[in-house]
Parts: sequence; C-alpha cells; structure tokens
Amino acid sequence: MGDAGHRFSTRCIHAGQSPEPVTGAIMTPVFFTSTYVQEGLNQHKGFEYARTRNPTRDAVEANLAALEGGTHGIAFASGMAAVQTLLQLLSAGDHLVLGDNVYGGTFRLVDKVMTRLGLAYTQVDTGDLGALDAALRPETRLVLLETPTNPMLSLTDIPAVRSLLQRKASPALLAVDNTFATPFNQLPLAMGADLVLHSTTKYLNGHSDSVGGVIVTSSEDLASRLRFLQNAAGAILSPMESWLILRGTKTLHLRMERHNASALALARWLEGRKDLARVFYPGLESHPQHALAALQMKGFSGIVSFDTGDPERTRRMAARFRLFALAESLGGVESLVCHPASMTHGSVPEAQRAALGITDSLLRLSVGVEDLEDLRADLEQVFQG
Ligand SMILES: *Cc1c(COP(=O)(O)O)cnc(C)c1O
Repeated sequence: MGDAGHRFSTRCIHAGQSPEPVTGAIMTPVFFTSTYVQEGLNQHKGFEYARTRNPTRDAVEANLAALEGGTHGIAFASGMAAVQTLLQLLSAGDHLVLGDNVYGGTFRLVDKVMTRLGLAYTQVDTGDLGALDAALRPETRLVLLETPTNPMLSLTDIPAVRSLLQRKASPALLAVDNTFATPFNQLPLAMGADLVLHSTTKYLNGHSDSVGGVIVTSSEDLASRLRFLQNAAGAILSPMESWLILRGTKTLHLRMERHNASALALARWLEGRKDLARVFYPGLESHPQHALAALQMKGFSGIVSFDTGDPERTRRMAARFRLFALAESLGGVESLVCHPASMTHGSVPEAQRAALGITDSLLRLSVGVEDLEDLRADLEQVFQG
C-alpha cells in the first residue's frame, strides 16, 4: 500500500504498511515476540526467529526504503549500529575515506575500533574534489560522507563525487549519511550514492523518544550482504522503536516543511543582527555553497549555527535560553541549543575543532516546530541579556 508511484507525503503515511489481516487494525501492531510457531519442518510463514525478521521492523524498513527511493531498508538499534554494519562490509587491508567533519561517533568508531581490525582511513573535506581525489587509493572500498555536516553545515556535491569515483579502475562504494537533510530535502540514491544511512533518532523519528538507525540501498547484492551482517551481528531495531519511527514518519513531510521554513526565517533574522561574527545555514545566500544547496536540496533543514566571536558571551547566552532547551541531539519537534565545542564535539581534538571552525563561541540551534514568533522572542531575550 502506498509504495511505488505515490508521492513523498503519501509514502510517509502509507509505505510499508497495510491493515493487519486478522482484525483489520489500520495501524501496524508491535510484534513483541522472539520466535514464530512453525507448522512442520521447513514449513513457516517466512518468520523463524526475531533477530532475523520481525513484522514491525519489516514495516519500518519498507517505509524508510520507500522514503529514500530505495528498494531495501535495514534497520538497526542506533545510528552507530548502522555505521558499524556499513563498515563491516569492508575487510582488513581495505581503506576508507571519511568526511573531515563527520559525526564524532562515526570518527571514534573508525579511529579507535576499526583501525584495530585492520582498516585504514583518511579524513578529507569531501566538498573539495581535488582533496578527495588525492585521498583515494587503489584499495579504497568506501567513501562515507555527510552533507550538510554537523555543526558547520558545509556541503558535498554528491553527483560530482559519484562521477569522480566512477572514473577509477575499481570504484569505491559511496555512502551518504542523510541524517541532517532527511529524504524530504535530499535524495542521495537518486544522485548516485550506493547507500544512504540515518540516525533515525533525529528527524525520521522526530520526537526525541527513540534511538535507531537505518541503511537504505537499491542494490540487491549490498542489501543481502547487509542483511547477513544484521542477522550475524544482531544490532537490530526493537519492535517498539520500529513502531515509534513508523508513527514519526507519518508526519515527516509536515514537520520538515516547518523545520525548513522556521530555520530559514531565524537564520535570516540572525544574519540581520550586527553583533554576530557569522551565521551558518545552507539556505542563506551568504553560505559559500548556497548554489550547490539550491541545486541538491529541496529545503535546507532545521539546523542553524552561529558564532558570536566571543566565547564568554556565548557561554552566558547558552544559560539564558528558556524555550530552546540546552541539550545534545537534534531533529525533534522541540527546539534545542547546543554548544558543540563543549558538548557534541568535546572529544574532537582542539586543533581539529579550530581547523573546522568549531570555536568556543559557536552555538548550534535545532529549530523545532513551535510557533516561530515564540522562538524568535526567546532568541531576542537571550541576545538582550
Ligand atoms: C546522531 C548521529 C549519528 C549517530 O546516531 P545514534 O542514533 O546516536 O547512534 C550518526 N550520524 C549523524 C549525522 C548523527 O547526527
């Protein structure tokens, strides 16, 4: 129901779901079960053990695959479990390229764990095609990038990276972490990515009440290798979390419209102030990659960063928000503010933070779907204090 042929909003609500056959319940039940009764030896309904398959997880996997325009979704216990399983496609001796501003947990997993298991990696600004080209080796099997990045909101031209990789003798796989943009705003598979992944914890679930991850692909071969790894390693998404995400994506299109509109309005308002060093938002004409953003993204999502240029002032401001909650994470209906240097990016070495622009005077807003005027008033009182 609601899969091929339907537009995005319809897919949000219906893809992967059909009325439950026994009772007709319109909502997918939460199948809390570890096993399934079999009629005879080798006679079953396709479900044998719940690490391998669960009907609630099946539904959310089909839903998320349809939203990303892919044919296979594989759901995991967290965004990091999705990244981990993606990396398990590689073997000792392989090399991967990571964006220089990827999620801190992704960097930590590669740098502290996967290198012990024999993977080599290079970090580059994947927005710089020359630098990316120089980082590729004959044994490079995977390029993993985020666009826009966190919290600097810099972009990578996905089709350009695809064609660069395609020119190599044995092209590396291209995986895009689409957590920040969401499929409402950006469709990496349609632009040539082999795999797209998410922390569903953020916009897809959207209500800050579950942790999860997903990988989507249209490749039969990659999907079956990932399914094997999902079952072999077992970091599966629980039935309850699967159900919460199904509930979340029913309003993804509505939420993203508001996130996009309110973030753009607040970014413009911030840019109009005379007391800020810089405002970062791909939807602003002043963003150095605004032209690429306009080409590659439908909207610019709900994250806005700004730098006051004064660490002490930023510290005082962080304590004065009333409606924006001071917290890590992002992408929920409620607005959050975060001080990346001491919170989400505290473990990034200071020199690397400085090189990326993550200064002590930078704040990151996750603009929620509250009334825009209330959000603006909160910012106003924070600046006035
Ligand atoms: C949060 C996040 C992750 C990690 O996901 P978890 O669900 O927290 O494990 C990965 N990538 C990006 C871009 C994120 O924002």
